[in-house]
Amino acid sequence: MSSTRGGSADMPVLSVRDLSVRAGDLPLVHGVSFDLSAGERVGLIGESGSGKSLTALAVMGLLGKGLTAQGQVLFEGQDLMSTTEKRRCQLRGNGLSMVFQEPMTALNPTMRVGRQIGEVLRVHRNLGKRAAREQARGLMERVDIPDPVHYERHYPHQLSGGQRQRIMLAMATACEPSVILADEPTTALDVTVQSRMLELMRKLVAEQNSALLLITHDLAVVSEMSDRILTMYGGHIVESGSTKSLLDHPRHPYTSALVATSNAVTVDSKAPAGALPMIEGSVPATGQFPTGCPFRDRCPRADEKCAVMPPLEPLGDQVVACWHPVPENAGDPASRVGA
Ligand code: SF4
Repeated sequence: MSSTRGGSADMPVLSVRDLSVRAGDLPLVHGVSFDLSAGERVGLIGESGSGKSLTALAVMGLLGKGLTAQGQVLFEGQDLMSTTEKRRCQLRGNGLSMVFQEPMTALNPTMRVGRQIGEVLRVHRNLGKRAAREQARGLMERVDIPDPVHYERHYPHQLSGGQRQRIMLAMATACEPSVILADEPTTALDVTVQSRMLELMRKLVAEQNSALLLITHDLAVVSEMSDRILTMYGGHIVESGSTKSLLDHPRHPYTSALVATSNAVTVDSKAPAGALPMIEGSVPATGQFPTGCPFRDRCPRADEKCAVMPPLEPLGDQVVACWHPVPENAGDPASRVGA
C-alpha cells in the first residue's frame, strides 16, 4: 500500500467534473460531479436506468459504440478525458479497475482463470510467466479460493458464480489500484456468498487504501459498505451526503422513497432484505424522462416549478437538487412512502 496514494492527503484521487454521456443527440447522463478520496467508500444508488453504470463506464473509458462522454475525469490530477487511449489502457486494471455484476461477461471464457489473473500482472507489472503465476496463486488465496494450484487450471464456466466473482476481484485488486468501481458486484450471488464477498472487498480496499465507488440498488449493502452515498435518478445526481444522514433523513423525495420502500421490504419476511421494490410509477425508458426535474412524473411533491431542473444545493447535512425537499423532521422514512 502506498502512503502517497492519490497525491496529498486532501487531494481526491478521482475527481469527476460535469460528466455527461450522450447517445447521439440524446443526453443520458447530465453533468455529474463527485470526488473520491483514498480509502473512501462511496455508494452510488438508484433504480436500474438511473445512469449509474453509464457513469462508471464513462469514468473507465469503456462506453459502448454510439455513446460519447464529455467533461473531466481527473485521476490523480490527470484528465483522462483528454489523454490517449493508450494511456487509459495503461491505467485500466492498474490505477483504476472495475468489478462487474456478471463476471462471465468480463472474464475470457477461453482462458484458464490463473492465467487471466497472471496476464494482469504481466501487462501492468512486467512480470515474467513464472512470477506472474506465483503471484496469481497468492491473489487467489487472498480472495478465498482454496487450493489455487487446482483451481488456476479451471475455465470460468467450470467455477461457481461466487468463485468467478472472486476471480474478478483478484484481477481488479492485483495491481493495488487507487480506484475501484464495483457495479452491482454481489447482486447475482446468494446471500451467504454475497456477505463474504462484501467482507472481502472491504478488507482489500482497506489494505490497499483504494477508493471504492460501489454501485448498487441494495440499501442494506450500501448502508454496510459506504461512508458516503450519491443518489442518482434520470442521469442526474439528485442527492449526496454521509451514509448515516442520508439514510436517516433523506431530503430528496426520490431518496426518501428509496429508503422508505427498502425499509418496508426489510420488514416483509417474504422479500429479500434490502431489495428495492418499485416506487410508485416506473423509471421512464431511455429518452422519456420529463423535462425539468426527471422525477416529476413520480413525485408527490411536484408542482409547476419542477418543470425547471433544480440546482444541487447544500441543505442541512446533504446536498440536494429539489425545489420542495422533504422536511428534516419528517420522521421515519418508512412511514412516509410517497411523502
Ligand atoms: S424538484 Fe419537484 S419533482 Fe423534483 S423531486 Fe423536488 S419536488 Fe419532486
